[in-house]
Amino acid sequence: MRYFDCVIIGAGAAGLMCAATAGQRGRRVLVVDHANKVGKKILMSGGGRCNFTNQWVEPANFLSANPHFCISALKRFSQYDFLSLVDKHQLAYHEKTLGQLFCDNRAKDILNILLAECEAGGVTIETRCAVQQITQLSSIDTATHTQQTEPDTARFELQTALGPVRCESLVVATGGPSIPTLGASGFGYDLARQFGLQVTDLQASLVPFTFKGERLALAQSLAGVALPVSISCNNQTFKEALLFTHKGLSGPAVLQISNYWHPGEAVQINFLPDHDLQACLREWQQAGEKAELKTLLSRLLPKRVVLAWLAFPELQALVDKPVAQLSHADIAALASVFQCWSCIPAGTEGYKTAEVTRGGVCTDQISSKTFETKSVAGLYFIGEVLDVTGWLGGFNFQWAWSSGWCAGQYV
Ligand SMILES: Cc1cc2nc3c(=O)[nH]c(=O)nc-3n(C[C@H](O)[C@H](O)[C@H](O)COP(=O)(O)OP(=O)(O)OC[C@H]3O[C@@H](n4cnc5c(N)ncnc54)[C@H](O)[C@@H]3O)c2cc1C
Repeated sequence: MRYFDCVIIGAGAAGLMCAATAGQRGRRVLVVDHANKVGKKILMSGGGRCNFTNQWVEPANFLSANPHFCISALKRFSQYDFLSLVDKHQLAYHEKTLGQLFCDNRAKDILNILLAECEAGGVTIETRCAVQQITQLSSIDTATHTQQTEPDTARFELQTALGPVRCESLVVATGGPSIPTLGASGFGYDLARQFGLQVTDLQASLVPFTFKGERLALAQSLAGVALPVSISCNNQTFKEALLFTHKGLSGPAVLQISNYWHPGEAVQINFLPDHDLQACLREWQQAGEKAELKTLLSRLLPKRVVLAWLAFPELQALVDKPVAQLSHADIAALASVFQCWSCIPAGTEGYKTAEVTRGGVCTDQISSKTFETKSVAGLYFIGEVLDVTGWLGGFNFQWAWSSGWCAGQYV
């Protein structure tokens, strides 16, 4: 029987950060992962360049049934702490937009930092190591274990593909089920339930929307067109790029709002976020513009979008109208369609393309200081498996670093 002070299930962002931190405190740490490689999501993140944090991290960038839960960890291990680590390893990085920090070279550089830190902490990492069963040991189990090689502090016994292991602290860092081909699984939720913890509703998030019927045909006719929009749902608005796709809508604006969207709800899109269309139309009228509406609107928007929207039944009559002839009602109708277009997505592309899972292990049952569960001593949950979901833009990795580092102080 092997014994470690701490076993971490999941060699992703949170698990590796926790392992390095605990290892460097002198704890004997084992990280097990059922995948063939560690840190697969890190490797494919940010288009291969890993958007590893954001300059402007705030608790407001995270969703959770308990919005206060993330505050302490984000303060104790902030984006600046992660940047210190990045600087220590002399990694070159740059800001892309909206405070999003990316590697200059490749995402693997971030993984290499974590692995170097794990090595410095003497951490053992085992891949292709599925965990089959976990048993909480009672004091009787540990006392009656005959050939005891471990101290009697062992609280858990794991049956793994590489044999049984005992440990005092068990950390669940298995992430969420998005992109199952990368080794993602719902194992952490099953484990939480096994130990009597609650799991919130789960939904694929930071994910493109899909359409059906006429809306789908509209999106398909514009597939590949990208433009800045502001998009709103449930009192949240994002101003970023939208992309029409063969399935519906994507792009950063859409991924962001998907965090706030529930099936059946409408989203509102303003295709002219930097203009007041009613005012523009009146100015054109006052200036005596002779051009047709479609020509003038094409000054503000891609022509394909203008033509597609002017083909809506309520606007068809206006397509060839000179702008001077537009009535107040026409102007209001145009503003409504271009600046407050409401649509109900048929759904999302689901876990096969989602960047994260919204929801997770209920944080009420977890200490926001140590990440230990309140009801099971020695059992910790960190990272995306928890009910803490960040915006697009490096926030989800920052949550993995913050929660992993904080738990690493206690495991
Ligand atoms: C395509 C893509 C791009 C992304 N880009 C960004 C980005 O640029 N910036 C950002 O902030 N966030 C990004 N994210 C989100 C980010 O990757 C995750 O939020 C983050 O990796 C979560 O860290 P974690 O350690 O909790 O989980 P993960 O990094 O997912 O790690 C979980 C680990 O647990 C292992 N595991 C799962 N089940 C088991 C099991 N049963 N037994 C053993 N091991 C198991 C997995 O193999 C995996 O290695 C992206 C996500 C995706 C899918």
